Amino acid sequence: MNTEQTLEMKCNRIDGRGYKAYKELAGEYQFPSYTLRIDHVQGDPFATPSRIRVRVDRKTSGLPRAFSANQSRKVALCDYLTRIFYKNCLKYSQGNRGTGKSGLIVVDRPGQEILESTAMVMTGQWGEVRFFMGLPAKGRRISGRDAAIMFLKELPEIVKASLFFNRLNPSDLKTHIETAEDADALRDGLDDLGLVGFVANGAFLPRTSGIDPAPLAKDRAVRFQSPDTLETGIMLPNRGCITGMGIPKGVTLIVGGGYHGKSTLLNALELGIYNHIPKDGREMVVSLPNAVKIRAADGRNVAKTDISPFINNLPFNTDTTSFSTENASGSTSQAANISEALEAGARVLLLDEDTSATNFMIRDHRMQQLVAKDKEPITPFIDKVRQLYDEKRVSTVLVMGGSGDYFSVAHQVIQMTAYTPEDVTRKAHHIAKEHASGRKQEGGHAFGELKQRIPIPESFNPHRGKHRTKISAPRIDEILFGKTLIDIGDVEQVVHISQTRGIAHALHYATRYMDGKQTLKEVVGRVIKDIDGNGLDILTPFVTGDIVCFRAFELAAAINRMRALIVTQQS
Ligand code: ADP
Ligand code: MG
Repeated sequence: MNTEQTLEMKCNRIDGRGYKAYKELAGEYQFPSYTLRIDHVQGDPFATPSRIRVRVDRKTSGLPRAFSANQSRKVALCDYLTRIFYKNCLKYSQGNRGTGKSGLIVVDRPGQEILESTAMVMTGQWGEVRFFMGLPAKGRRISGRDAAIMFLKELPEIVKASLFFNRLNPSDLKTHIETAEDADALRDGLDDLGLVGFVANGAFLPRTSGIDPAPLAKDRAVRFQSPDTLETGIMLPNRGCITGMGIPKGVTLIVGGGYHGKSTLLNALELGIYNHIPKDGREMVVSLPNAVKIRAADGRNVAKTDISPFINNLPFNTDTTSFSTENASGSTSQAANISEALEAGARVLLLDEDTSATNFMIRDHRMQQLVAKDKEPITPFIDKVRQLYDEKRVSTVLVMGGSGDYFSVAHQVIQMTAYTPEDVTRKAHHIAKEHASGRKQEGGHAFGELKQRIPIPESFNPHRGKHRTKISAPRIDEILFGKTLIDIGDVEQVVHISQTRGIAHALHYATRYMDGKQTLKEVVGRVIKDIDGNGLDILTPFVTGDIVCFRAFELAAAINRMRALIVTQQS
């Protein structure tokens, strides 16, 4: 077995040689209190940094068993340790030590959400962190002595300060774990209470800015307070009973003046599928795990999606039960997004007028008079939203400050006034009765059945050139898969670039289940089942610490946005 002395010797030996000699370091080294594994050595100082792992025995790290007693706790424990590891990299590593990425020691940085990630894996026996190091060079000559300092001085400091229980803040760690466990319990409890979402009293929803998801400065924000009528209490394993606003199943309308906090509330519900870190403000804001944000995404590709509940009689007799386009309009893209979300199993749809196509959402009395039904291909969402619930038990939460026509189809109406919600359901229903909108229902008798689609594996080609596969996530909203770019910018529940990377690899992994018979939903379901059973590591051909978990819906959304996608419809 190699030891730290072996590593030091090797580093000194290759000092001053060409960068390629770093390859000699690959392998496993036994340190006094952990095992270091150099999985992959970068090709040059500018390339993606080297992939390294450190595994610490639980007997050595002293992390209490109770902290990983169930899945919620384990994920939160790993997430916490990753955050501490990240901070300690900044603290203990000198940073830049030469050319390119020389000197870098870094782990994938978690955001506001607590997500399962390959950066940290915990079993009953050991914990393992997977991180990245830029092996140092001057020009292209190896700085072996600096490498030795990184491996033998800096890294041991980082590891001990991050993974050893006696160096951690036990109360912070406990809060982290209990917060996640409570949030999971809260989310698990929604269905039985007949709710699709919950926002705790005292929650803090606004964010610093459109590009910074940290909470807004505390002195500038109004905390959430539920209206009496919607107030619900739920018992949680750690913090006991909490109260807040329960959003019942059915059709919920969020109204209110512009800039009064409607979208902020909906955004919090969108991300309520994830657990949030303590002090985020949305720790106790949850929604059902199968809630899907829907928006318009004009320009997107659509492959044989059945959008006929919403769109019919297009020019040139285009078939909308099997609708394909390389350039969807606002309304057809939104229709496709809904059909595909339903196809993948969504039980809650979340829509915001800010990002919806107007003609998809409303068609008022006057417009019905001017443009006859047979001249308008779109059946607006207002005429379908109740069918979705009544026939399919799919609920909708909809932000709509611009049209009162929705009063008649909503089960509950919540008005935001200066960031505080009020239950105005009775008022809204009264108004709907007193002031008939005059509009005719255009939705027909039923929502109808959507056809499932079967993806064809040939459309998933990860190759770029003859033997080179190319699968990556250049940006959070972009997947590079072989020669094609997939734009997932409209898939708003992706919050971390490593989720995008995970989805990218899952596209390839999924092809093993594409046999011309299994539907898109089944294929995606099997991928998620494999991940649940065997971990995220199965997605990549090598262990790498930058894959973060994602849902079936986001994977399906990426598939649906592939421009090369070929599917057949199940008959
Ligand atoms: P709307 O959708 O009703 O037009 P937004 O949700 O976009 O309004 O909110 C408008 C602004 O108010 C945003 O800048 C948002 O960050 C801020 N905001 C939202 N909720 C709160 C709150 N509870 N306290 C303070 N500011 C808030
Ligand atoms: Mg808004």
